[in-house]
Amino acid sequence: MPLAIVSAMREELAAVLEDIEHGVAEQVAGREFWRGRLRGHDVIAVQARIGKVAAAATATVLAERYRVDAILFTGVAGGLATGVQRGDVVVAEEFLQHDMDASPLFPRFEAPLYGRARFPTDLDWSERLASAVKRALPHAVLHQGLVVSGDRFVSSAVESRVLRDTLPDALAVEMEGAAIAQVCLDYGLPYAAVRTVSDRADDEAHGDFQKFIEETASRHSAAIIRALLS
Ligand code: SAH
Repeated sequence: MPLAIVSAMREELAAVLEDIEHGVAEQVAGREFWRGRLRGHDVIAVQARIGKVAAAATATVLAERYRVDAILFTGVAGGLATGVQRGDVVVAEEFLQHDMDASPLFPRFEAPLYGRARFPTDLDWSERLASAVKRALPHAVLHQGLVVSGDRFVSSAVESRVLRDTLPDALAVEMEGAAIAQVCLDYGLPYAAVRTVSDRADDEAHGDFQKFIEETASRHSAAIIRALLS
């Protein structure tokens, strides 16, 4: 059974795709699913596109149609906690949707009828990812903990401060992780995610982000996945 490698943007996945041998693409639900071998492992790589719905749809196809062993996400995120700086790497221990709010019917952030706001990642795969990060990017600062997701590109100091105040243990913010974590819980599929910090989710986020994804995101993703599968 293949291992799934998922990113949101083309720039995050490009170098990973170059590493796949004998890759064959199949079009499903408007996306290209690339199946092949990477460092001797059966893999299936796909660009999910941006946001929670796109991520959930992709994870569902991977579970239902490809019966993957596990889903690994690699990409970029905005740093939230003080000390989570551009170029640092975050391996998620758990995810939460920061824009989920069905209060007063359910507590703020709780996924309705799941009885939880936080969705854990797979311990074993997360440790393997963290150790791959240390080997692939020995100079990068590595953080492990909560990552929050929502359908917003957080790009103002005001907004990131509000998130920091309401969710003080959140390390980073992005737009897909919690959706995949929820689908993986539904299917009992192991899930792990690694994000390089592209910006600080503040007023400079947009400029920082563009430059970072062009210069670094793809290289980082590929180096981490190579180290993981070697
Ligand atoms: N304005 C951007 C939109 C990309 S959305 C553009 O010009 O293309 C940002 C992507 O990177 C999402 O896939 C998300 O998961 C991640 N990301 C990086 N920094 C983020 C931030 N500050 N807030 C939310 N998502 C962020």
